[in-house]
Order: sequence, then structure tokens, then C-alpha cells
Amino acid sequence: MSLLEEKLQGVKTAVILGHIHPDGDCIGSCLGVYNYVKDEFPGIDINIYLEPPAEKFSYMRYFDEIKTSLPKELPQADLCICLDSGDKDRLGGFLPLLENAKDSLVVDHHITNIGYGRRNVIAPDASSTCEVLYDQVLDAEKISRETAVCLYTGIVHDTGVFQHSNTSGKTMAIAGKLIDMGIPFSDIITDSFYKKTYVQNQIMGRALLESVCFLDNRCIFSVIRKRDMDFYGVTSKDMDGIVDQLRVTEGVECAIFLYETAFQEFRVSMRSNHIVDVSKVAAYFGGGGHIRAAGCTMSGRIHDVINNLSLHIEEQLKTASSL
Ligand code: 5GP
Ligand code: MN
Repeated sequence: MSLLEEKLQGVKTAVILGHIHPDGDCIGSCLGVYNYVKDEFPGIDINIYLEPPAEKFSYMRYFDEIKTSLPKELPQADLCICLDSGDKDRLGGFLPLLENAKDSLVVDHHITNIGYGRRNVIAPDASSTCEVLYDQVLDAEKISRETAVCLYTGIVHDTGVFQHSNTSGKTMAIAGKLIDMGIPFSDIITDSFYKKTYVQNQIMGRALLESVCFLDNRCIFSVIRKRDMDFYGVTSKDMDGIVDQLRVTEGVECAIFLYETAFQEFRVSMRSNHIVDVSKVAAYFGGGGHIRAAGCTMSGRIHDVINNLSLHIEEQLKTASSL
């Protein structure tokens, strides 16, 4: 019996939650489990609650069934399944659904996850929550083609199309099994990962144009202000990929991308190549993530935010060079 099947014994109502600003792995894992339960356990009343997901993911079945606001009367689910959310706070406005549920299952791959569920499956070595689902939570034999599309999406997004250091032989083997199910793997990658709208390209161009190198060109940062976001008509959902483009600048170890969410409040995304553990830097400022990809929210003037981050990065670079 798969772990999910075990947890679903006697369950009549279930809810699935992910993290705020849901990304490909979050949406893929939530819709993956949703599709699986709909296929295999049709008697269970199950709902997904997420912040509004990007339209580019609408090829996944049941995308339109995602609920984006809390119901007026808070339901008490028999089981709450939290996916890809490194901590409770990242569940955002949907946290009450977890607190009110009778039982909970947390599935994640964030190294900073302390295990806030009744049952926790946390695999920091896994590329993505979708990989953990395939490997440890679902019965591979019972995964439908529609579920496979969702899981493949999550793996593709969190590995940056099998590029990041979190990609393992196991990741590739699982992706291979999903491909063998006949999913449109090429379209999934093009349409959900590489394709950009015109304004998304414009805002990325603007960010690259205004980027600044520091710490002897080993770091690079760029900031997009609220007024620029308004000018181009973009939202947080349009910022995907900017920090990854900064990271591949020749000679750069660490890339930082900030965008303003309110007056003197910034979402921070960090990436590193070989040395800096950005999850440590992010965790220091109340965020989290992975060694090579992490984020947090910071307040203050841009100059101070960059200076504060820079101090931590410089310290890690110094320690590494003295080893
Ligand atoms: P991104 O830079 O793409 O927003 O995030 C990179 C990684 O760090 C993702 O795995 C994301 O889930 C995680 N992350 C980003 N921001 C936060 C945060 O504020 N708190 C925690 N715990 N993790 C974060
Ligand atoms: Mn993930």
C-alpha cells in the first residue's frame, strides 16, 4: 500500500495546500495528487487551495478547479496534504485549513523544513516535491497520464530543465518513466518553462540592463521597483527566470534579484553556482530554500538590503577561499 493510500484510509474529505507564489513544482505536485486522488479514490471530497496560479500551467487537468480563496465557513478536513511548502507560514492565508484538519501529511524537499505535519516526508536530496511524490508517496503503477503531466512539470521546473545540481540519476529515471507514459514532454518544457510573454521579456531585459556586479564581480544583483512593474504591467508571476539569467553571467558565483512588493519591502531571490549556501543567507533573514536557490522577504532601503545580504555572502566566500 502506498503512503498516500495508507493516509487516506477512512478519509472522506481532504484538502491540498501549497506555498505562496506557487511555482511549477508547487502547482505540479498539488494537481498531481489531486488528479491521482480523483482517479483512484473518487469517493473522497478533495479540494486544492492556492494563490492564483499562472495561466501557463493551465494545461494540467483540473487546473480550473483550484480554489483561490478561503471559504467563508472554514471546513474541517479529515486530512490536509501540504506540498512543497518549506514552513507553515509559507501556506499563507490557507494555514487555518491545516490547523483545523484532523490529520496532516507534509511532503517536501526543502532542507529548511522542520516537519510541521503529523506525518512528514521530507527528502532534501530530491530535486522536487514531485520527485518525492513519485518515489515515496504514490503508487507508480497507479499514476495516470494526466497525473504524469503534473509530476513531470514539477521536476522540470525545480531542476531548471534537468540542469541544476539537485538533478540526480533517480530524477532522470523518474522523468524517463513519466516520458514513457506518452506525455507531451517537449511541449510541457517549451510552454511552461521557456515561453515568455512580451512584457515578461521586457521586464527581464530591463532587469539585466540595470544589473550591477559587486564583490569583485563574483556577485550580481538587480532590482525592479513597483513603479517599473506598473509601467510594464507585470506582477510577481512575471519574474520567473530573471535570477537564473543573472546567475549564468560569466565569473559570477552568486546572483540576487529583488522586486518591490510594497514601499521599502522586497522579495529576494538568490542563486549560487558552486560555493555560497544561499539557503543559509535566506534563513538568516527569515526565509529559506535550497543550497543553490533560496529566497526571503526583506524591508528597508535597497542599498541596505543589498549590503546586508552582501555581508553574509562575502563571509561565506572568504571562509571558502581560506579552506
Ligand atoms: P525563488 O527564488 O524561486 O522564489 O525561490 C527559490 C527557492 O527558495 C524555492 O524552493 C522556494 O520555495 C524557496 N523560498 C523562496 N522564498 C522563500 C521564503 O521566504 N521562505 C522559505 N522557507 N523558502 C523560500
Ligand atoms: Mn519545489
